[in-house]
Amino acid sequence: MTRALYPGTFDPITNGHLDIIQRASQLFGVVDVVVAVNTRKTSLFSVEERLEMIRECTRHIPNVEVLSHAGLMVDCLRKRNAQVLLRGLRAVSDFEYEFQMALMNKKLDPVCETVYLMPSEKYTYLASSLVRELAGLGGDISEFVPAVVEARLRRKLSGSEGV
Ligand code: ADP
Repeated sequence: MTRALYPGTFDPITNGHLDIIQRASQLFGVVDVVVAVNTRKTSLFSVEERLEMIRECTRHIPNVEVLSHAGLMVDCLRKRNAQVLLRGLRAVSDFEYEFQMALMNKKLDPVCETVYLMPSEKYTYLASSLVRELAGLGGDISEFVPAVVEARLRRKLSGSEGV
């Protein structure tokens, strides 16, 4: 059984991420969605909040597990006994960074294979940063994130939850 790790910031999870998770769940035995804990990057949602939202949005997919990891993804790969690192590719602009990461991860662990999936065309322009910005400006984000995430974003940005 192949276990794939899907790491990311997921601040917050969007329909683009979910599209990749859905596709991957049909290709791999288990998909571990991993919130990468990055102390250098400031995020809108805490790691716990991001985990909760991902769990709620993937509850209907039985072979998905959700966790966080601080440190190298190749270490997480070994710990979880996974073989594949999964990433989404939206546009050529993603390519250079992804190319670097895949080669570096391969160097760190020669067994690590990075697999890229493309989302449905309608999500190719979608990014968490855009969703945060749009929500902050009062725009309609209902097409881009699940309802639970939309509600959380509204609460967070209205200040009732604190940022
Ligand atoms: P990171 O900070 O690691 O890029 P993200 O949460 O932004 O984390 O993204 C995690 C992964 O999901 C990355 O591989 C990214 O390219 C991919 N991804 C993000 N948004 C989309 C989308 N709309 N469609 C497909 N893949 C996406």
